[in-house]
Amino acid sequence: MNCALLGKWVFNTLSGKQGLCYDLMRRKYNLREHALGMNHSKGSCFWNNIQNVKSLVMGNCKFEVGRGDSIRFWEDAWLDDLPLKIKCFGLYKVCSVQGVSVCSVKQDGWFCLFRRSLNSFEILQWEDVVGKCLEVSMNEEGDKVVWMLNRNGFSSKSLYHWLVFGGIVDDRCRLVWRVAAPLKVKIFLWLVMHGKIQAGEQLKNRGWRGDPYCKWCGEMESVNHLMFQCSLSRLLWCFVRDAMGWQRSLTDYRQIGGIQLGYMSAKKKTCVLGNGGSGGVDDLGYS
Ligand SMILES: [Zn+2]
Repeated sequence: MNCALLGKWVFNTLSGKQGLCYDLMRRKYNLREHALGMNHSKGSCFWNNIQNVKSLVMGNCKFEVGRGDSIRFWEDAWLDDLPLKIKCFGLYKVCSVQGVSVCSVKQDGWFCLFRRSLNSFEILQWEDVVGKCLEVSMNEEGDKVVWMLNRNGFSSKSLYHWLVFGGIVDDRCRLVWRVAAPLKVKIFLWLVMHGKIQAGEQLKNRGWRGDPYCKWCGEMESVNHLMFQCSLSRLLWCFVRDAMGWQRSLTDYRQIGGIQLGYMSAKKKTCVLGNGGSGGVDDLGYS
């Protein structure tokens, strides 16, 4: 969360925002407008944190080149939607100076030094990059920055979502959090759906030395056994089945997501385990 809030400072500084605090920072660290410095310079705790967050913000921005002194040639997206570091990773790996600004590469006549000779493919790739660079018109205005994660401009919320996004969205769990039930019930459902409750089998896998077998029937106490398959649990689910008018009971924790879908479509807000109706329990093939 702190990174997302600091990200606003970074973006506003790159956008050239005026204000007492921004002016103070620019004067203290000798920054031009629309710039945050190419390298990580030491300073106050606040400045060091800004520098740490800088690459997170700049990695999600697209730049329109002005002077080119605040845009990193390889690491920022200025020539295309992707940074050259990603598009031409082979060239980036062997270039002598990484983190160099667009402005300084232009001053050298769009010349970069590489640590070894380029092969024929890399030469063609580099010529293509130089060709695109020559088409870019630079001026003495500050570089403009566009936030890519939100079409309405920068928001700390969009940066926060990007930071915490794990890459996979589990729709079943999203529905669990939307159900009108106490938080502790939702957390318990989430734990069951991920097979994380402290059943004997799970505890044994974590090195527990106690008895992992069910005290009621003597079978291995897995999540499914504890919640659905033990004779006592089956009896309980029979009551639920009859009360809710289902044709069959649940036998597996992975079916809970189906109940949630049914519940949401039926729009019943009085019970977590509602009858699915169409698209609900029966259609999902519960056995
Ligand atoms: Zn049992």
